[in-house]
Amino acid sequence: MNRSSTPIKVSEGSVSFEEQIQPACGSAARSVLPEHLTTRDPKWLLVEEGFTLSREHEIESLFAIANGYVGNRGSLAEGSPLSAPATFVAGIFEQLDTPGSVPQLMVLPDWTSVRIWIDDQPLSMQQGEVLEHRRVLDFRRGILWRQWRHRDPHGRITRIVAFRFASLSDRHLLLHSVSLIAENYSSTVRFESSMEIGESAASLLEPDWKTRCSARRPNVLPLTVSAPGRDTTIAFGVTSQMLNSGQIAGRRMVNINGRRISEHCEIEVEVGAECHLHRLISVFSSRESPKPFECVMDHLSHVIPLGISAAASAHASEWESHWRAADIEIDGDDSLQLAVRFAGYHLISAANPNDSRVSIGARMLTGAAYKGHVFWDTEIYMLPFYIFTHPAAARALLEYRYHTLEAAREKAHHFGFRGAMYAWESADTGEETTPRTVIAPNGEVLTIRNGEMEVHITADIAFATWQYWEATGDDDFFVQFGAEIMLDAARFWASRGVIAQDGAFHIRNVIGPDEYHEDVDDNVYTNLMAAWVLRRGAETAKLLDQRWPDRWRELVSRLQFTNEEIASWIKLAAAMFIGFDSKTLLFEQFKGYFDREAIDLKTFEPRSAAMDIILGHERIQQTNIVKQPDVILATYLLGDEIAPDVRAANFRYYEPRTGHGSSLSPSIHALIAARLGNNELAQKYLKQASEIDLGNNMGNAAGGVHAAALGGLWQAIVFGFAGLKTSSDSLSFVPNLLSHWRRLAFPLQWRGRKLAIEIDLETMRVGVSGTQSFKLGIEGGSQITAEPEGEYVAKRTKQGWKPWSMVHSSA
Ligand code: BGC
Ligand code: BGC
Repeated sequence: MNRSSTPIKVSEGSVSFEEQIQPACGSAARSVLPEHLTTRDPKWLLVEEGFTLSREHEIESLFAIANGYVGNRGSLAEGSPLSAPATFVAGIFEQLDTPGSVPQLMVLPDWTSVRIWIDDQPLSMQQGEVLEHRRVLDFRRGILWRQWRHRDPHGRITRIVAFRFASLSDRHLLLHSVSLIAENYSSTVRFESSMEIGESAASLLEPDWKTRCSARRPNVLPLTVSAPGRDTTIAFGVTSQMLNSGQIAGRRMVNINGRRISEHCEIEVEVGAECHLHRLISVFSSRESPKPFECVMDHLSHVIPLGISAAASAHASEWESHWRAADIEIDGDDSLQLAVRFAGYHLISAANPNDSRVSIGARMLTGAAYKGHVFWDTEIYMLPFYIFTHPAAARALLEYRYHTLEAAREKAHHFGFRGAMYAWESADTGEETTPRTVIAPNGEVLTIRNGEMEVHITADIAFATWQYWEATGDDDFFVQFGAEIMLDAARFWASRGVIAQDGAFHIRNVIGPDEYHEDVDDNVYTNLMAAWVLRRGAETAKLLDQRWPDRWRELVSRLQFTNEEIASWIKLAAAMFIGFDSKTLLFEQFKGYFDREAIDLKTFEPRSAAMDIILGHERIQQTNIVKQPDVILATYLLGDEIAPDVRAANFRYYEPRTGHGSSLSPSIHALIAARLGNNELAQKYLKQASEIDLGNNMGNAAGGVHAAALGGLWQAIVFGFAGLKTSSDSLSFVPNLLSHWRRLAFPLQWRGRKLAIEIDLETMRVGVSGTQSFKLGIEGGSQITAEPEGEYVAKRTKQGWKPWSMVHSSA
């Protein structure tokens, strides 16, 4: 085969050449994926039939593919008037040089762009007739499919079947395959794949890249992009292969012009024949290696000979093992089943246990909303999913917070406090990245004070740190990372409040989870959580001193903790002001909340806008409308520290006053309602939670999927409907299934054990594999000691659950 290439045009800023297509994707390249990688069960498939231009942005978010390292929106390969394709790489932020701008997740070149020309006419949904069109997201295999049958204005009928994925087994690898059948014509078909660099980015072509590519591997399109305002470069390499009726075919022409690099592959297709364009894409950044382009080339030379089938199989089997650890099965409610798989799909897609310098943004790698920033969403809403299904991913997320401790200490210092004050919005360095102003949907320019005031984030991170440690028993993490997070969080809280004349410790000028009320004093969520952190901080010091004295000595010498300081934490926690009325059992969400104007939310129903949009930013502050769970979130997180009647009273009080202005709201309401046995409300909120993205019921899924809502949905099922409660040595359940569910089943990992949980209306089963016994409880029934390996069954009678009995033991 002729490997030499003929430069056909070289002019300033533009390079073109043409060459024979090389066998780039391995000799064993198959025309389509092996049958076993195709999923037919509709309970695993999200299907978007047809094409609705106005929904395109939202569909792009929902159908995004990702692997925790790289993510890509589900845009059409040839684009449309409303397409907003984007590739994101975790941790790659840019900082633009415009006043007031904050770091944002960078939109990287779209590697999925492939346009098709039939006899020089572009194949486009905007010209001719769409005979069939659907996008199918296969959750089980992590593959996005597209099926399109089109009659062009000349009457030619073309069928396209395409798929793409971001490999979960090899996170630097992306794969894209497009198959074309010319149903009723023979013609010249040209595929034009391209990558374009956004306005802000500087593009770099590697010096003598062509020689370097050809010497190592044929047909590589190289592209290196640098992130504005950051010392980061990101390298892409794309290698393509054309197959025509099973044979490697065609000629390739490469054109590099300004910000665009494109590759044209041209072939002659016969009527009824099938041709394929397979593309392997490698991506590395200077975060992993000082020479990312070298990594791309090495990587491609390793994966190309294996071929696309091997890449797809490895990817699919990695998905399979993730699902084995995470899949929730719900028999009796197909739409909920699909929604929990949608949640699982995006949660699995977002995590990368191998990178502890990045965390998961509020919209994951699926959209640019909130600029890719990391909020408390990760620790309070998503983390439990990872703790109980993929602990290594949970650990990496918490290590990210450890690595941003220095920035949090600086922030505390800047505001005149001690310890670590975490960023409300965090990006790559951990510095505060909350924007100073934002434009509200109604055009209002709002000053954003969350960066200084939404301080509960520092309690949330400490809470999650402890929760991870307790649920995994990962002492290594606790000693190396967790303990320091706990201690510096406690130190912060001690400095953040004041003992007032009433002798109580007050935390003032905060924004609680309910962001409709800014600059309030003694927010109950903040104060309860801060008191919890102060106590756990003191416990951490004691534990370190007793069990890991070397580490304790090192921390004391580096951070100057004294016995007096630690003792003061316990005193401050005890003195913490908590607005609570012992007659009504109600917490007052913040000082003066009960005096705010009472608004009856029912009078606004049905309503399609958030209450702060309807009433305006200033007015809502004067009312008693709550944006999202605040008091009742604390009553859930703090579990048995809050008496059951107090939990119930506060849910009854705050639920009708909550406007659900955040996607973080419905899932927690579903969870608590399920625990309280209020199934009517539980069902209503569960449905709302499951439709946040799938029904676009916040109206803003275009900016990416709502990660916290997805994690919240998982928690609602596991902690709400299955009623899971854990401590360091026990596991118990308070099952409460909705009446139309026939069965709920899911796996869990807990303290080194693997558990299989199965609940139906009469029976609950727990299969255990592990090495140590533990206490197992069920509502109303007594606790038993469960053996390391065994299966336990509890039966429900009219009087309630009977105690567990062992049905099988492998011992
Ligand atoms: C959110 C805040 C956030 C701000 C700026 C608001 O919509 O509610 O949590 O800090 O946007 O990103
Ligand atoms: C919510 C916050 C959340 C943020 C990012 C806001 O609307 O009020 O609680 O952290 O969105 O999801």
